[in-house]
Amino acid sequence: MAAPSSPRRISHWIDGAVVPGQGRVGPVYDPAAGRLAGEVDLASAAEVDRAVASAAAAAPQWRESSLSRRAAVLFAFRDLLARKTDELAAIITSEHGKVRSDARGEVARGLENAEFATGIPHLLKGGYSEQASTGVDVYSIRQPLGVVAGITPFNFPAMVPLWMCTTGIACGNAFLLKPSEKDPSAALFLARLWQEAGLPDGVFTVVNGDREAVDAILTHPDISAVSFVGSTPVARYVYETGTGHGKRVQALGGAKNHMVVLPDADVDMAADAAVSAAYGSAGERCMAISVVVAVGDVADAVVDAIAARLPKLRVGAGTDPDAEMGPLITGEHRDRVASYVDAGRQDGATVVVDGRTAEVPAEGFFLGVSLLDHVNPGMSVYTDEIFGPVLCVVRAGTYAEAVELVNTNPYGNGTAIFTRDGGAARRFQFDVQAGMVGVNVPIPVPVAYYSFGGWKSSLFGDTHMYGPDGVHFYTRTKVVTARWPDPATSTVDLGFPQTR
Ligand code: NAD
Repeated sequence: MAAPSSPRRISHWIDGAVVPGQGRVGPVYDPAAGRLAGEVDLASAAEVDRAVASAAAAAPQWRESSLSRRAAVLFAFRDLLARKTDELAAIITSEHGKVRSDARGEVARGLENAEFATGIPHLLKGGYSEQASTGVDVYSIRQPLGVVAGITPFNFPAMVPLWMCTTGIACGNAFLLKPSEKDPSAALFLARLWQEAGLPDGVFTVVNGDREAVDAILTHPDISAVSFVGSTPVARYVYETGTGHGKRVQALGGAKNHMVVLPDADVDMAADAAVSAAYGSAGERCMAISVVVAVGDVADAVVDAIAARLPKLRVGAGTDPDAEMGPLITGEHRDRVASYVDAGRQDGATVVVDGRTAEVPAEGFFLGVSLLDHVNPGMSVYTDEIFGPVLCVVRAGTYAEAVELVNTNPYGNGTAIFTRDGGAARRFQFDVQAGMVGVNVPIPVPVAYYSFGGWKSSLFGDTHMYGPDGVHFYTRTKVVTARWPDPATSTVDLGFPQTR
């Protein structure tokens, strides 16, 4: 793997400026070329401390800013994001590898969160009860937490930070982001947009790093809350460590999303959905479909229809306008994903399509798409989150068996059903244990005015991310009980006859 003569340095963003790191660096790859593209600074605890100090200094003034000022910054940020979508999408593709249309889609979904947050004056309204007792009124207000942090995964380097920082900032907090060290540049681009939108320096901070920086965040006394998105083992660790240090934590973990296809489903529609949901973004999506549960006699037709579509799926560099699927994030991850094809075969699954034999660009971390049939729940291809372009088909005899599979799976992020029967779909939404459900929609990522989150091992904490839950997470409620003197005793002439 040849390195360029001088790799690009990706540093921190503290107090409205780029701040070079003081020590360790990590590699950032161009996955389509399979070579080193840059080096990212990995913050020490002391560097995190400096960044938190800057955020803590900026927080009180931002909290005092009026709601209309905050909304104005959010409107400006939203417009900049819309205008600079292509620039940001190009950065995402260069470090993550996803094709340009996926990268633009990611920005568009993140932009929805900025749009939602422009409504902050309305969203922060509290309640008011007049005359709760004689002469006593009670009302509630929502106040920001101070400095809040976000720790994000590689697979959505712009969208997931936008899930968090738009609402966190609109609520009046200073936001410190620790992006994935695998594709950190999108976070720095967002930092510049915030500055251009008029956000005061220090209110949005980027600290690059790995576990050392995460630990410093989780134990820092001046950070009040942590939002995390990533794999389940790290989510559990972040939740336990952060709450152990007195912080409010929401930690979203991994997934193994099932798509149930009932015998009456439109097979072509289901196959199209399965292909785009399983292989889009090379399967590196927490809402990707990784298991199709084919119920009854629809199984052969579904497997054939999916298999027929796969030779047409074009794998190539994200910059290639004809490519539908890009490379995986690293060579190591590509090899791990590829190993599941043999693991499935050894466990007794039928390899219908083997992605390792596909024609893909020679350079780069590419892997073709794989389809495995006759998978059963004991196999590692079923139990593990593969996070790559490998789709498993499990055959179930009945609807009840299919639901049992979804419900006994330790993950509960998203699930979908494909059917023409409204009653069955309604029953499914009632029965399944997952946080997000699609009906003839394979990737049911909620729009920004709802909230995103799974159940079971897909979420530690009780608050989902963004939308109304985001406002709840980034604020504390205060209830005021107030008594004012009776008008009869008032020293001010209120200008109306006293009746009592
Ligand atoms: P990851 O867990 O490896 O990393 C996530 C973040 O945690 C990164 O910022 C990383 O630097 C940090 N981190 C990694 N290892 C750590 C450790 N040992 N201690 C402390 N911090 C650590 O996840 P990833 O590979 O970047 O992303 C893919 C995973 O994220 C998948 O499991 C995917 O399902 C999940 N994901 C979930 C959602 C969701 O909404 N539930 C969304 C996107 C991704």
